[in-house]
Order: sequence, then C-alpha cells, then structure tokens
Amino acid sequence: MSTQQQAPARGSEAEEHAGQTPVVDPATGETIAWVDELGPEDARRAAARGRAVQPAWEALGFEGRARVMRRAQKWVTDHADELIATIVSETGKAWEDAQMAEVLYAASAFGFWADEAAGYLADERIKVSAPLLKGKKVVTRYAPLGLVGVIAPWNYPFTNGFGDCIPALMAGNSVLLKPAEKTPLTSLLMARALKECGLPDGVLQVLTGKGSVLGDAIIDVVDMIMFTGSTPVGRRIGARCGERLIPCSLELGGKDPFIVCADADLERAANHALYYSMFNTGQTCISVERVYVEAPVYDEFVAKVAKKAKTLRNGRPTGPASTEVGALTTAGQVETVTEHVEDARRKGATIIAGGDPDPSRPGWWYPPTVLTDVDHSMECMTEETFGPTLPIMKVADTEEAIRLANDSPYGLMASVFTKDVHKGEQIARRIQAGTVNVNDSLVSYAALEAPMGGWKDSGLGARHGAPGIRKYCATQTIMVSKYHLRKEPQTYPYNGRGFKLLGRVVRFFYGRGTRD
Ligand code: NAD
Repeated sequence: MSTQQQAPARGSEAEEHAGQTPVVDPATGETIAWVDELGPEDARRAAARGRAVQPAWEALGFEGRARVMRRAQKWVTDHADELIATIVSETGKAWEDAQMAEVLYAASAFGFWADEAAGYLADERIKVSAPLLKGKKVVTRYAPLGLVGVIAPWNYPFTNGFGDCIPALMAGNSVLLKPAEKTPLTSLLMARALKECGLPDGVLQVLTGKGSVLGDAIIDVVDMIMFTGSTPVGRRIGARCGERLIPCSLELGGKDPFIVCADADLERAANHALYYSMFNTGQTCISVERVYVEAPVYDEFVAKVAKKAKTLRNGRPTGPASTEVGALTTAGQVETVTEHVEDARRKGATIIAGGDPDPSRPGWWYPPTVLTDVDHSMECMTEETFGPTLPIMKVADTEEAIRLANDSPYGLMASVFTKDVHKGEQIARRIQAGTVNVNDSLVSYAALEAPMGGWKDSGLGARHGAPGIRKYCATQTIMVSKYHLRKEPQTYPYNGRGFKLLGRVVRFFYGRGTRD
C-alpha cells in the first residue's frame, strides 16, 4: 500500500509531500525518505484485500507457506548488508546491534517458523476422562483467525514488528502490519522481499501512518492484534480489543533488574551489565535497566563497570566497528533520559561516566551514562528509561535485591549473577518476571522455542514457542461419536431411571474422595 521515495532537498517540502511523513536519520537529523500517511479508509480497503486472499494462502498448507519463508531466510542472508543499512538509517543504532538483534533474528526466525509451525499447530487427540464420553473421539485443531493486525514499535523494526508477522503468516493468516511512524523503511523493504520470495499479493500489507489514527482503524478491521510498544498505549489497545471482543497479545515496557551476588564472576557480570544496558543505545524492552550489587563486591564491580564504560565510543554509525553506542531513535527519548539522569543527580546520585550530552550535536544523542548512589526514590530506578543508562545500587544481601527487583509494576526479564547456579535458579523463581537469566542476560530472547512475555504491566501473552503461534489461531474442538446407543439414558423422558443410573455413575467414578 505504502510507497517510499528518497527525499528531495529543495522546494516546499510540505507541499511536495502532502499526505506523507518524513523519515529521519536519528544520527544526523536529516530526512532520508517520505512515506504515505494512511488513514481509516486505507485500513478498510487493505482489510478487504487481505481477507479476499487469505483462504488461498491458508490452502497452500504448511509446506507451501514454509517454502516462501525459507526463500525469505535466504533473502535475508544474501541481503544482510542492505537490511542492516536500512535499519541503521532509520534507528541510528550501531551496525553490530542491527546485525546481532535483527539480522540474526530474521535469519533464524524465518527458518524456525517454517520448520516448527506444522508441529505446534498439529491436531491434538484428547483423552477425555468423563465417563459419559467414553469411546468418543475428541480432537482439537488450530484454525487461522483470518486477518491479524501487527502494531510495532521503533526500537527493533524487524525483530519486534516484522518478526511477529512470520508466525502469523505461517499459521495461515493475512496480516496488516503498522510499523512505528519513525521506522517504516525496514518493513517496506521486507514486504518487497517477501513478494520477491513468492508471497501472494495482499497477504502481507504494510500500512504506514499515525498510531492514534491508523492504529485504531486497524484494530477495528482485524480479527486479532499483536501489539508491541509502551504500557500506556498497550492498555488502550487492550481496551479497544475488549470492546470488539477480539484477542490481543501485548508485549509492553520493562524495568529489568540485574542482581550481582557476592559470589558472582564479577568480570562477566560487569561485561554483561554494561553491554546489555547500552546495547541498541539502551532502547530494548529487555535492557538491563537497574543493577543491585551485594555490599561486599559493590566497589569492585563499580570500578570494573566505570573503567569499561569510559572506553565506549558514542559516534555516528557509518559501518561495522564505527561505534559501540549509536544515537537515540527519537527526540522524546533524549528528553526522557535527560529527565531521569537529572532527577537522580538532584536526589544525590553520582555520575561516574557520561551524563553530559552535547546539545549542539545534530541528531538525537545521549552519552553512555553510569550512575551510583541511586535508590528507589529516583526515576532512573523505577521508571522505564529506555536509554544508555546504568544505575547501580548497593544492597545488603540477596533478600534485599529480590525485594527491590520485585518493587516494580513491570515484570519482563531479569538477570542473576552467581557462581552457585542452584542458588541462582532459586532466586530466579522468586523474581516476578516472564524470563529470568542466570549468569546471562537478554540473549535468552534468541531461544525461539521458549515463550517470552511479560508479567504485571509488561504485557499479556507471549511470543515464541507454542503460544507464540497458537495465539494467531482459533482453537476448535471436534468430538466424534462413532459407537453409541440410539437413545441414551439421560435424555427425555425423565422417568427416574436415568436419574438413578447417573447417581450410580457419580458414586462409582467419583465416590472415592476422602473427607479431609
Ligand atoms: P508506543 O506505544 O508509543 O508505539 C508503539 C506502536 O503503537 C507504534 O506503531 C505507534 O504508532 C502505535 N500507536 C500509538 N498510539 C496508538 C493508538 N492509540 N492505537 C494504536 N496504535 C498506536 O511505543 P514505542 O515508543 O514505539 O516503543 C517503545 C516501547 O515499546 C517501550 O516501552 C518498550 O519497552 C516497548 N517494547 C516492548 C517489547 C516487548 O517485547 N515487551 C519490545 C520492544 C519494545
């Protein structure tokens, strides 16, 4: 539906691009493309088109659909540089970040869902225990919902947007994808790629436009919403889906804690805390957002992190190895990060690295920043920062660390570092989060077989694993009665015999329970 054009630099841009939105390179502040700003009528037309082609797509079967996905997997490996350059141009992230978390994900996800969808969605023969149903065949099956709406954020244009379309398509649905306003180019590129790989027209349509206008319009025309984004918008979307009685899966914000026990491998813990807080310029829902370190090793851990943080480059991403930490993707993120750091500074935090952005720099930037002397009175420890900050807090013991880790409305992911892996697992089980890593962080996202979702305000439902594809389906139970009486005793007329018989059945099958 949507078109992409390179932006001419001259003339009255507003007039020349009426009905379009600019896409800006966050590392330079320059406009790099214009895309159509679509509205409700476009969403309705796209829905009709998607619904019209869906039955033929479903009829291709798993193998037919998998063929398209395997070609797409090859396309990604053949065009990795083009995909990385597109992602970097609209997000400002480092090339390595785009490679690790988007291209690697894309290459594995196309193959994973191509291979696994048929197994996850195979008919299941159900063994029933109800005495009246003995001898009957009961099967559940998964039918595609029809038309799925995917609404995506800007931080991972492939992984958290296009990536969710893959299982939806493999389940036999048509999809309307609305990328974030700031980052539509990756989705447009991938839609063209899938077409090249044989995806029939209309099965996947990318609709570009404003969340508040087009997002709502998409919810009104689809059979299910897969949303990734902020918790406030997720709540609104959940409410609107509730009004329409359509299912939704919500992958929302996080404030992921990172616990360092006194017996941890401090070198590994420091490397992980720094890397996974700054990775993608800190704009990852499962970033390390706050660190709790047991008192005996606090000073040593902080010294290690400070030394490593000072070596990070925060330059314009122009190719591999050009920078460690890229730009922030939006001006709003610069504001949020600045506010959280300044709030902490006012309340007594110490900035041991970074903290002083250069306001004259074109684009959106904030330097990698490490804070100590922080506590839960500060926004940097309680609200999602979504930027290159690493606040480190000293705690008396693991009990205090667990209590503080759970002192949050969010529950997306967490990390625990200890050499005692049994203890680490016990701590993990006490943390309120959808995923907990022991001696690792964030990278568990790559386990496509394992459900990944949030507790509490971090979301509803999960991506990956069986739930990550069954959510795009309606479950149907089919019961088949082959051998049966012509008249069963519980049916009319009620002459007392059926009542007595059923009473005996209840006592025989269920009368062996105990009183206590
Ligand atoms: P956002 O909520 O502002 O926007 C996400 C998408 O929703 C965009 O496409 C936007 O256009 C659309 N939208 C906005 N208002 C809408 C409305 N009223 N109706 C329908 N759609 C609407 O989020 P963002 O700023 O793009 O992304 C950052 C947030 O996403 C962070 O909170 C981050 O933690 C979260 N996130 C979560 C995960 C996860 O897996 N849990 C992954 C990535 C990002």
